[in-house]
Amino acid sequence: MRAQNPDACPDDPTARPSLRTRAVHAGRADLGDLGVHALPLDLSTTYPLPDVVAGGDSYERLAGGGDLEAGASPVYARLWNPTVARFEEAMADLEHAVGAVAFGTGMAALSAVLVAAGQVEREGTAATGEAAAAGAHVVGVRPLYGGSDHLLATGLLGTTITWTDPALPVEDAVRAAVTPRTRLVLLETPANPTLDLVDVRAVVRAVRAVAPDAVVAVDNTFATPVLQQPLDLGADLVLHSATKFIGGHGDAMGGVVAVRPGLTAWLARLRTVRALTGALLHPLGAYLLHRGLATLPLRVREQQAGATTLAAALAGHPAVRDVLHPSRPGADPSGLVGRQMSGPGSVLAVRLRGGMPAAAAVASSLRLVTHAVSLGGVDTLVQHPAALTHRPVQGDARPDDGLLRLSVGLEDPADLLADLVQALDRAVLLEQAPA
Ligand SMILES: *Cc1c(COP(=O)(O)O)cnc(C)c1O
Repeated sequence: MRAQNPDACPDDPTARPSLRTRAVHAGRADLGDLGVHALPLDLSTTYPLPDVVAGGDSYERLAGGGDLEAGASPVYARLWNPTVARFEEAMADLEHAVGAVAFGTGMAALSAVLVAAGQVEREGTAATGEAAAAGAHVVGVRPLYGGSDHLLATGLLGTTITWTDPALPVEDAVRAAVTPRTRLVLLETPANPTLDLVDVRAVVRAVRAVAPDAVVAVDNTFATPVLQQPLDLGADLVLHSATKFIGGHGDAMGGVVAVRPGLTAWLARLRTVRALTGALLHPLGAYLLHRGLATLPLRVREQQAGATTLAAALAGHPAVRDVLHPSRPGADPSGLVGRQMSGPGSVLAVRLRGGMPAAAAVASSLRLVTHAVSLGGVDTLVQHPAALTHRPVQGDARPDDGLLRLSVGLEDPADLLADLVQALDRAVLLEQAPA
């Protein structure tokens, strides 16, 4: 009875159980056979080798990005870990991917994608006899997480970046920025920190028209697979900072790249980059992140309900110029909520009339809400993007000084509202005070 499943893709042809059920069971199919109930945690750094030849074969296979063969030795934890592989299997299931590769952080996951895109560029230039390019040409749709923006803007990993023109409709902007040599297009939706929504299908159409071999990567950290499955919208790669909603409890860092069916070569590329650069996810992190998946659908929906209530309530406060959240009137001109994304999510931002001083006053007056970066956890956090997460972002793309980003947790929304209102009231008093 697919109709009972609010988060299923409406046109999903497979009769798999609903996402809520899969979130509890994904990556656990063999636990009964193993005779255990909880996720097994393997902390081995090295593994016994049956003999030199078999060990060498396994090494070669894993270093080349292949899967561990049944009964083979994982050789060394930088190449393979069963606790991590189990978490990857679960993430691939939830994202409708052919596979997923997990990393130590979200930034490590993005770095691996950029390095792998550079590898594709080198293979491409070698095949055509062109001079080897320094790295991949990337098109970025702003706004992006400040760290991602910074990494692309500096070209640290040899990539070159073209930002899309924010004045154009996104499909035209992407079409104008992409060239036949573009290897990667990166976007976020909802985007950090303004909660802008980007039409993934429109971006994919624009990219395919100009650069059929370029991959479209969607950072799905804010939406999570509970609200949106970008691979079903035509994207090639899905990125996550698993540090945020996936873990959900603020105690484990991680990153994930999930790969579209048909792009299996990318799985091997990403695993090879991970093995060579050492960007692996620690098995204890994988264990915690995997455990977090079971409650992900419930957390995301409950936090979203709280955020929607708060977004409406805060919009009327005299200190607030506007509230940025996909649930707000005018925030979703293309009607993506309900079509691309099943709900508006639980991160919002408030733009304060009093600018930076008001934002600083609010951040330091909150009692229940914690003033800290990060998001997606069970407790509510507030932070000032221009000073913190988006500090390195240059020029016009830098967020407004009066913007505060709020990640709504699982507390009672009435208690959160009371705390936010007392802090916002101080901002109003500050504005009224003689200079
Ligand atoms: C936090 C974040 C990242 C970076 O992830 P880390 O786990 O902190 O490395 C990337 N993208 C988005 C949207 C984020 O919020």
